[in-house]
Amino acid sequence: PTFAELGLSGPVLETLEQMKYTKPTPVQIECIPPGIEGRDIIGIAPTGSGKTATFALPILHNLWNKPQSLLACILAPTRELAFQIASQFDALGSGIGVRTIVIVDGEEDRVTQAVMLAKKPHIVVTKGFNLRNIKFLVLDEADRLLDSDFGIAVDEILKNVPAERTTYLFSATLTDKVAKLQRANLRNPVKVQA
Ligand code: AMP
Repeated sequence: PTFAELGLSGPVLETLEQMKYTKPTPVQIECIPPGIEGRDIIGIAPTGSGKTATFALPILHNLWNKPQSLLACILAPTRELAFQIASQFDALGSGIGVRTIVIVDGEEDRVTQAVMLAKKPHIVVTKGFNLRNIKFLVLDEADRLLDSDFGIAVDEILKNVPAERTTYLFSATLTDKVAKLQRANLRNPVKVQA
């Protein structure tokens, strides 16, 4: 199938063409249609599978249809991954003027964080922060997230995000901890293995 056949349309589709993403990857084929429908997703998918675009595209599709600041919060286990995710959101969302910020806990002071948030970003990629009105929560590389120092903060963040939300969990491996996290926090997710 093409990205259009998966349900994407408008400027995001044009951007995909410009970026020469001609064919969706297997994990994108399985996840994007239920993602657009609003389903939760658990994807067992390694780096290189196209997982970032897999969660970015339904979020950008939603943003285009219903613009909202602080629409999505992406939790990533490392600073480097957080910046890589943000740059994919910026690239894929360039046609719809997406505003993305990265907050790495402990790196910026609260004033700097407040200035960044005052710009009303649509997407926040973070290694330690929480947001009350988000509609999407993405747990990327959940196995590593849970094993990092940030593991305890994941629980704290889950307590502070709205219950009414869509959750995407991506992990290279389905460890017991990841399975437990999924059972407690995702609602009837589509399960996809890359
Ligand atoms: P990821 O698995 O998210 O780390 O993505 C791996 C690389 O594949 C990234 O550099 C993406 O820009 C690229 N990519 C993702 N989806 C596609 C696609 N459908 N066609 C071509 N490149 C892609």
